[in-house]
Amino acid sequence: MIMKNILHSFLSLFFPDLCVVCREKFIDGEQHICTDCLLLLPKTNFHLQADNRLEQFFAGRVPFERAAAFAYFIKGGSLQQIIHELKYKRNPDIGYFIGKLSGENIKGSEFIRSVDFLVPVPLHPKRQKERGYNQSLKVCEGLSEVTGIPVNSGTLIRTVNNPSQTKNSRFDRWTNVEDIFSLSDRDTFINKHILLIDDVITTGSTIESCAKEILKSEGCKISIYAVGTAN
Ligand SMILES: [Zn+2]
Repeated sequence: MIMKNILHSFLSLFFPDLCVVCREKFIDGEQHICTDCLLLLPKTNFHLQADNRLEQFFAGRVPFERAAAFAYFIKGGSLQQIIHELKYKRNPDIGYFIGKLSGENIKGSEFIRSVDFLVPVPLHPKRQKERGYNQSLKVCEGLSEVTGIPVNSGTLIRTVNNPSQTKNSRFDRWTNVEDIFSLSDRDTFINKHILLIDDVITTGSTIESCAKEILKSEGCKISIYAVGTAN
């Protein structure tokens, strides 16, 4: 044990565990994000506000029960660094961690009271292989750990890869994501309330496309949740 600690301290000189936001070294017990940066995260608390900005954003685009996000995604802000770490730095643990934080935030609220399944926005298998994991699934796993709501990641599937998505305008992106999702079976979501989970909501076109596919299940209801929202 002592040897292990010495080795850890030695390695920390070269590969220190740093807060993904401020890059400061951790003090006892901190991991991924330091306490100071956690306290400064710009939480939305949209789950407590009916008719919040995100719900207004999706209104008329797709039928849904509620929509919320954990924090505001601001260019150059702390959540942008966290999401960057999650998507491009091969750090699935930060997804699980931020999922647990989100879970603590919405646990026990009306927002999730009747939810049957947490469903991550699926990645195309090719993209998932490149990244090594689906970041939204990692967030779901953290949320599930805290709330006890089961994850379903096998029913909603992505059938088309669209790597050029981020370069296109909103209209192009919308047409781009039409019909790229499908359901692997028609029964699982019947009469269920699905909480659809994404990492960040920007145009909302991916969520909209997923929701339309899920809603083909009879009697199914949708709510929407993301770690971050640019809206
Ligand atoms: Zn920090």
